[in-house]
Amino acid sequence: MSKVIVLASGKGGTGKSTVTVGLAVALVKLNKRVLLVDCDSGMRGLDLMLGVENELVYDVSDAASGGCDTDSAIYSAQSMYGLYLMPAPLAAEDEVSPSVMKELVDSVKDGYDYVLIDSPAGTGSGFDAAAAAADMALIVANPEPTSVRGALNIRLKLSKLGKDEARLVINRFSLKRSHSLGVYKDLDAVIDACQTQLAAVVPEDMRIAAIAQRGEAGKAKSPAAVTFENLAARLEGENVPIAKKILGIK
Ligand code: ADP
Ligand code: MG
Repeated sequence: MSKVIVLASGKGGTGKSTVTVGLAVALVKLNKRVLLVDCDSGMRGLDLMLGVENELVYDVSDAASGGCDTDSAIYSAQSMYGLYLMPAPLAAEDEVSPSVMKELVDSVKDGYDYVLIDSPAGTGSGFDAAAAAADMALIVANPEPTSVRGALNIRLKLSKLGKDEARLVINRFSLKRSHSLGVYKDLDAVIDACQTQLAAVVPEDMRIAAIAQRGEAGKAKSPAAVTFENLAARLEGENVPIAKKILGIK
């Protein structure tokens, strides 16, 4: 049975898209078939991160409106066998409604082990559409108060939508930055503030940022990639400890 996961954050720029792609690559390495659905209408980016931007003709809104058959709006990431993308529309006004998005995802999900849905920032209609078909949510937060507030807001919103299975991904963790910020005593304090069970801690890692921005996701090994592999294994039911060495924690 396939698992449908929405990546959410409330606040923008926490690393939802980066985590979506990093997790997808890690799942593909476990021989899973993974479909990414980009729900960030008007601000799509997963196509760039996978390096398929020049191949795109159709998007989610074309598939939803019958402008193309659904398979024509799904692109294979040439560099990674088993990884597929349904891109978001280029124009924000082509955003698909939650009910139509759910219908669309439900119609394709059985062909994949995982469907990862990347959501836009905020708790508006774009998020509702992204969450509509999801069985669970991964809430991506940075270890700082503004991002923690976004995580709490999105958790509340998910509850209102009847989606109570949520896990936390703390992204861009840096011991040095945390110390100089001086808000949270330690990692546990961040997790407590987010009131959500932890699934992964991803370090601040310039390499993962550069790889994704160059459209070369999945090509290089990096500290963040190791934590994505651990997250993928956890989703598969393995009991993998947090990679404290990578995070600089004793
Ligand atoms: P969102 O999808 O939530 O808007 P993005 O995935 O686009 O966020 O990431 C926002 C910015 O943060 C990008 O410049 C990205 O490269 C960077 N970034 C994300 N995760 C990390 C990380 N773990 N280490 C360093 N930079 C990161
Ligand atoms: Mg994004």
